[in-house]
Amino acid sequence: MSVPTTLAPRPSAKKAAAGRLELRGLTKRYGGEAPAVDAVDLDIEPGEFLTLLGPSGSGKTTTLNMIVGFTRPTSGSLRLGGRDISRTPPHKRNFGMVFQNYALFPHLTVAQNVAFPLRERKVPAAETERLVRGALELVDLAGMGERRPHELSGGQQQRVALARAVVFSPTVLLLDEPLSALDRKLRQTLQREIKRLHRELGLTFVFVTHDQDEAMTLSDRIAIFDRGRIVAVGTPGELYRRPPNRFVARFLGESTVFEGRLADGVFAWAGHRWATGDAVPAGDDHAVVVRPERMRVAPDESAVPPGSNAAPAIVTDVSFYGTYHRVELAFADDSTGCAVLPVDGVPPAIAPGAPVVAHWRVEDQVVVAG
Ligand code: ADP
Ligand code: MG
Repeated sequence: MSVPTTLAPRPSAKKAAAGRLELRGLTKRYGGEAPAVDAVDLDIEPGEFLTLLGPSGSGKTTTLNMIVGFTRPTSGSLRLGGRDISRTPPHKRNFGMVFQNYALFPHLTVAQNVAFPLRERKVPAAETERLVRGALELVDLAGMGERRPHELSGGQQQRVALARAVVFSPTVLLLDEPLSALDRKLRQTLQREIKRLHRELGLTFVFVTHDQDEAMTLSDRIAIFDRGRIVAVGTPGELYRRPPNRFVARFLGESTVFEGRLADGVFAWAGHRWATGDAVPAGDDHAVVVRPERMRVAPDESAVPPGSNAAPAIVTDVSFYGTYHRVELAFADDSTGCAVLPVDGVPPAIAPGAPVVAHWRVEDQVVVAG
């Protein structure tokens, strides 16, 4: 895809695009029970690719629908460039939206679908034709304008939906699980194209997914949702390297999580005492988190480098993945874990059923509370 000059942002769009989106105490309650979205605070910077990531039912779609204006917040506010838009109707917010199910009009041609938002905005015919052509070029569908949606593949239909969502130079593009209906290979292709679209248009993207890999590869920052609340916000690297709590450690990437007690800077787990690097406040609700590529596995205690933290384990499985081995571990307290080892780093002694010692450097663990 390339940016045709016909889609250069109009001055008005450019000015509006300079606004930061601020969510303050945004709350949606549907019934008497727990709110679907519970006091969400979030700043989305102009031009940023921000992903809302969380399990099904955690409030991502409701949050997106409040941003676009389809759902009215029960309380809280939404500001764009300092201006409160909580009560602004959707069409006046000028946000583009892409859904999982494409939501194209089946009786309209591809070009008519893409032209739809321009018709609503009463853009003159010649200008409409120029903008539609530009948008179709942008998503690699030049020459497909006269087809009907049913004559296109799922991936092509989603490109039409993308073209329709950006043709009017929106201030913000919102995407609700746009790739979830596509098969894996197509999803990866479209991920790359969405990333390119973001780079080329310089628009703010707010992207929703429940797929952590998708969130990691696409996003500048990720906001992680759990039961209607944001439990962490950060860059993919920050959240992966330093998960702030157990939920993030478990939801984003894989982890071995050791539940224990922290006192005087020493973590006690199943009769072992481990050093903790940073100054962490004492408490009963702590866990030590080790990412799989930081976990090492030794045949016995003598092979553990001095100064490392270590836990005895039983190997439950070893699988070969071409570029690495994955070793599954079971620990004394019935918890499980895993290590990812280089292909030539697995001695024969590390086989299913074997007692081993899992170990890691103090600086490679993260102590979490909560
Ligand atoms: P997600 O997009 O993360 O899967 P949703 O925002 O769709 O989550 O839903 C969050 C919660 O709100 C869920 O418990 C869901 O059942 C509830 N919910 C969503 N929409 C409605 C609605 N229109 N009426 C009642 N409950 C709803
Ligand atoms: Mg959803």
